[in-house]
Amino acid sequence: MDNIPDWQATGAMKLLRNTVIRAGLEALYFSGAHYLLRPIFAGVGAIFMLHHVRPSREGEFQPNYHLEVEPEFLRAMLAHLRALDVDIVTMDEVHQRLSERDFERRFACFTLDDGYRDNRDFALPVMREFDAPLTIYVTSDFAEGTGRLWWIALEMAIAGTTAIEVTVDGTACRFDAATPAAKQTTFDRLHDWLRTLNEHELRREVSALCARHGVDEAAICRDLCMSWDELKPFSADPLVAIGAHTVTHCNLAAQSDETVSEELIKSRARIEAMLGRPVAHLAYPYGDKAAAGAREFALARAAGYRTAVTTRPGMVFAENAGHLTALPRVSLNGNYQDARILPVLTSGAATAMWNGFRRVDAA
Ligand SMILES: [Zn+2]
Repeated sequence: MDNIPDWQATGAMKLLRNTVIRAGLEALYFSGAHYLLRPIFAGVGAIFMLHHVRPSREGEFQPNYHLEVEPEFLRAMLAHLRALDVDIVTMDEVHQRLSERDFERRFACFTLDDGYRDNRDFALPVMREFDAPLTIYVTSDFAEGTGRLWWIALEMAIAGTTAIEVTVDGTACRFDAATPAAKQTTFDRLHDWLRTLNEHELRREVSALCARHGVDEAAICRDLCMSWDELKPFSADPLVAIGAHTVTHCNLAAQSDETVSEELIKSRARIEAMLGRPVAHLAYPYGDKAAAGAREFALARAAGYRTAVTTRPGMVFAENAGHLTALPRVSLNGNYQDARILPVLTSGAATAMWNGFRRVDAA
């Protein structure tokens, strides 16, 4: 592996990881292990995590595809849950059941991060067919139209060019973007590098990339996210609840205590002022261990949030009642939209596999 450039290795690792996960999901399905594991790993319920819900698009280069599912897959999951007689509930209800230790019936909760317009246009109609509620975690700057969705800006810059020149850690690098495969490798490499930068550097690098490659960075947010004017009627729907997802969608773990508290408190205040309804629930941006840990969990509690969700994979267990601002979720990932994996996801076998068969991870 020595002579393989590390960005190529990164791409290969991602491909390998996706392949292993898909093989693992299929193995769990075909072995029937998800039925055997059910009593141990199914927990008391699950909080599903989604981003975009929309019909699939043309084109081979879709590096953010893991962040979207088709309406049909959402419909299949809802039908599967209804067939299992699982209650589909709000985050308020998740909070109540955990606080009161009411685990008589299993529950599922649907949460969608960032505040995309397709949530209104494609997710809500499907949820309505099942009379199922959904929670949308709104980033207030995205609703404002001033936010930066840098992962999409990066995708657009790479999509429209055959080569990208960037200075990475002081070294001028040229990345091939001539073919869909090369674009994907370049995206993976630059994505991983950008995630290591602080907010200021990240913004500067992505803005420079956009300027060089003719991407209208400021338009992305307005094109994809609901504005306050759109959120107002949307949030009035009886099936819709709005949670907070910070002001700027920054990596909280990299910020000072003061900045984290400000992101948590100001976003909630802004949403409450604009929509005229209380906000009691939070989703951490990125939400993985590198973005939300013990300090963020404590600050979310201190800011008064009833619950906060991470992107750590897992079912909800009774033990999570003691960690209401560190709740795990089950990702509905665009790369694994196969109806056969639905029972694997709802059995907890998939998340148990990802967690090395640990149940609760709230450290
Ligand atoms: Zn997000």
